[in-house]
Amino acid sequence: MNKRIALFPGSFDPFTKGHEDIVLRGLHIFDEIIVGIGHNSNKKRYFPLEVMQHLIENTFEAYPQISTITYDDLTANIARQLGARFLLRGLRNTTDFEYENSISQVNRHVYEEVETVFLITSPHLAPISSTIIRELHKYGHNVDEFLPYKLSESTILA
Ligand code: ADP
Repeated sequence: MNKRIALFPGSFDPFTKGHEDIVLRGLHIFDEIIVGIGHNSNKKRYFPLEVMQHLIENTFEAYPQISTITYDDLTANIARQLGARFLLRGLRNTTDFEYENSISQVNRHVYEEVETVFLITSPHLAPISSTIIRELHKYGHNVDEFLPYKLSESTILA
């Protein structure tokens, strides 16, 4: 049997407990999950790419079937290169749905065999968004409760 490999693509700026929940629940469906931090070289991130990759790798240290990569390309092209026939995404609300609907059509246009699998967010994590966390962090608010790692204790950001 072919391994079921899923790519979980996102900006992850930062990676949150909502994202962690999607990955861990995805393990019930997939043999292997690759967290793909997509970045556009023209767009500046708030949390540096390498720092976030490191924090995500630490988060899933105990899971050999979860790995983390960074990429600057079309998500569907990367999935094809990785032999990942599935894209994993989370859905919080109808706004997510509208966006996800079109992006999944585009991904299939680029890579016909790829299927996007959506997991509905766990209700207690639904209000968490990377945008809000960035805003809180920018003005000095501790955001650790929203993250699967302790940003405040992380020395690599210093
Ligand atoms: P993108 O910039 O590609 O939307 P994000 O990093 O914002 O990337 O999100 C990656 C994926 O995780 C998306 O499918 C998004 O809907 C989902 N997601 C974001 N926040 C949550 C959450 N709190 N619970 C579940 N899924 C989430």
